[in-house]
Amino acid sequence: MILKTLVLGLLETNCYILADEKSREAVVIDPGGDFEEIKKEIKGLNLTVKYIVLTHGHFDHTGALAQLKKTTEATVLIHAEDSSMLTPTDQAQPFLMDSGADPCPADGTLKEGDKIQFGEYTLEVIHTPGHTSGGISLLIDKMIFVGDTLFCGSIGRTDLPGGSFKQLIDSIKRKLLTKGDDYLIYSGHGPASTIGEERRRNPFLTGA
Ligand SMILES: [Zn+2]
Ligand SMILES: [Zn+2]
Repeated sequence: MILKTLVLGLLETNCYILADEKSREAVVIDPGGDFEEIKKEIKGLNLTVKYIVLTHGHFDHTGALAQLKKTTEATVLIHAEDSSMLTPTDQAQPFLMDSGADPCPADGTLKEGDKIQFGEYTLEVIHTPGHTSGGISLLIDKMIFVGDTLFCGSIGRTDLPGGSFKQLIDSIKRKLLTKGDDYLIYSGHGPASTIGEERRRNPFLTGA
């Protein structure tokens, strides 16, 4: 599998491009901004983007969504509980408007256990609410793309609309820490980590 990490936008959001090396089918996770960079990478690798998957609806993860959708015509997917964040009519979630990006409604919504297939690979949806109510993590092999749920040494903020500290800790403990120590964690911001590393060192999870 091809895995490319691009760091995009003002908040340095990690955008992940996953692709099947044979069919060249790809999934873009969180196109947070800097559309030209994403476009260049996709073209350079000769990929066909089949899905654009959002770990949640915050603007720093969706800044280049409308442009990428327009160019690739890929299917846009987000958890049902965050889908209204993609359209600026939802006054409760003004993040999109703040970013100045065009609105881009989802083509479909996701729930726990859904499978997203590209080439010979399959991403599995894990609902991990807490940072937002529709926050998801995406599992493939021993890699988990966790969005802003969990960071190397930290956890996502829970003071924004839809956030809940209790729910976030519960999601991490029940849905992520139940995986083996060797599972790799790819966060929405900052470096990658492992489940084992976070289990041992993350001050929010060690109970210290
Ligand atoms: Zn966020
Ligand atoms: Zn973020």
